[in-house]
Amino acid sequence: MSGDSPQLDSIRAAIRDVPDFPKPGILFKDITPLLATPEAFRATVDLLAARIGAHKPDAVVGIESRGFIFAAPVAYKLGLPLQLARKSGKLPYKKVGVSYDLEYGSDRVEMHVDAIHAGSSYAIIDDLIATGGTAAATADLIELERGRIACCAFVIELAFLSGVERLGGRPVECLIRY
Ligand code: AMP
Repeated sequence: MSGDSPQLDSIRAAIRDVPDFPKPGILFKDITPLLATPEAFRATVDLLAARIGAHKPDAVVGIESRGFIFAAPVAYKLGLPLQLARKSGKLPYKKVGVSYDLEYGSDRVEMHVDAIHAGSSYAIIDDLIATGGTAAATADLIELERGRIACCAFVIELAFLSGVERLGGRPVECLIRY
């Protein structure tokens, strides 16, 4: 037990460590057991929605691909629009993008040009923050389009990688820290 609330303990207990995936030296946090444990998944969505709702965003932005799993029920629960931040080449319509470095490799995040409204505030959701590159690039993209960041929310923070620092003082919510 971690000393967290029973809800957070149930979430923590349902996250599986997979060593050396997708390459040697990476300890992958596998959320598939969490998704397969209804009470832990429900607690995750409920806690994320409560913490995100307190920032009063106008919309939710889910980061591909595991971020989508959490962003969709949070948007549903809060009654907010859901927008998608996707990897390069996946979105069909006109798009804007920002390139960034990952814990393993590099990538580019894109959104549709009509996804972000100037002056509106956005809650970014992903399953995990590692180096923070993905979330920072998504936040930069939203701000380039003149949206505001209400908060960046994650189920898991790998605190030893200092990803939150890369978000440069934007509000952050994390349920579980390692
Ligand atoms: P980063 O941009 O370094 O913060 O990486 C975050 C993205 O990569 C998230 O979309 C995660 O799903 C994924 N990711 C990075 N490191 C891990 C890890 N150790 N376990 C699981 N997912 C990870």
